[in-house]
Amino acid sequence: MTADPEPDGTGDLLAAGDLLVPAANGSARPDPRVLPSSPVTRFAPAPTGLLHLGHLVNALYTWGIACATGGRVLLRIEDHDRQRSRPEFEAALLEDLDRLGLVPDEPPTSTFRAGPTPFRQSDAAGVYEAALDQLRDLGLVYACACSRATFAAWEAERGRPWRGIGCPGGCRSLALPEDGDIGLRVAVGAGSERWVDLLAGPVADEPAAGGDLPVRDRAGNWTYAFCVVVDDALHGVDLVIRGRDLLEATAVQIRLARILGREVPPRFLHHPLVQRVTGQKLSKAAGDTAVRSLLDAGRTPAELFGTAARLAGLQATETPIDPEDIGRPFRTV
Ligand SMILES: [Zn+2]
Repeated sequence: MTADPEPDGTGDLLAAGDLLVPAANGSARPDPRVLPSSPVTRFAPAPTGLLHLGHLVNALYTWGIACATGGRVLLRIEDHDRQRSRPEFEAALLEDLDRLGLVPDEPPTSTFRAGPTPFRQSDAAGVYEAALDQLRDLGLVYACACSRATFAAWEAERGRPWRGIGCPGGCRSLALPEDGDIGLRVAVGAGSERWVDLLAGPVADEPAAGGDLPVRDRAGNWTYAFCVVVDDALHGVDLVIRGRDLLEATAVQIRLARILGREVPPRFLHHPLVQRVTGQKLSKAAGDTAVRSLLDAGRTPAELFGTAARLAGLQATETPIDPEDIGRPFRTV
């Protein structure tokens, strides 16, 4: 089974200064008329690095749209990957949110500091077990022994990457025992899902085109896609705002939500990603590109939101945006 790709919907980390360029990957500003009123959305970083400008763009969209539409922002710590998540990164991102003046409607950052909470994925194992049981009862869960080598061998033999329903090893029909370090997949079925992305417009995509959905990897981690679908349903999130790198992951998440009984899946808005002039990807942990470094260097939250808005293509200049007025780029003009 391939590893969870670890998307965070925030795009590549960007260096500060003139290496940053405005996003050129689609329209940036949603039509205020298509935004739902009073949505429940969420800001959901993974504590695998420091908060960076890509996160800040996502935060601008999330809090900005909630502010402009009378919505609410939930904070969720997505630490499903137990090997890569670090408590010190969680502590740092909570502190950074406080410094930026980004206040979630639920729960407050102090809740995470106080101990376990359903809004931290590593505290919610029972919720994922219950969802897995539900999928088992439907006969959709199977153990998959495919590794990266399985995918590579398939590709080497045929000269193209593996695509299709199931997995390259055909593991569902093998009924492999779920012992040892074996991953689990859920059969998501054929056909396509159609939805209207609030920025990308109408989309039709096949949930199973890239294979059945991994729900638990061979190291025992719940996968990103599985957790977010379960969490969003449980917490009543009805508007998912994230980076365009996750657009292709959406069809399978809508399908899974339906399989788990969510009659009306959440709506989605995939925003542009900020880009680096060289196209290079930097490490999340690079201190000189972190939001806290910029704050420490004297940049104000309003200035940083102005920068984020320019990088996203929401405004032509870096005109500061006060955190209290964060809905400004998304209001009807
Ligand atoms: Zn397999």
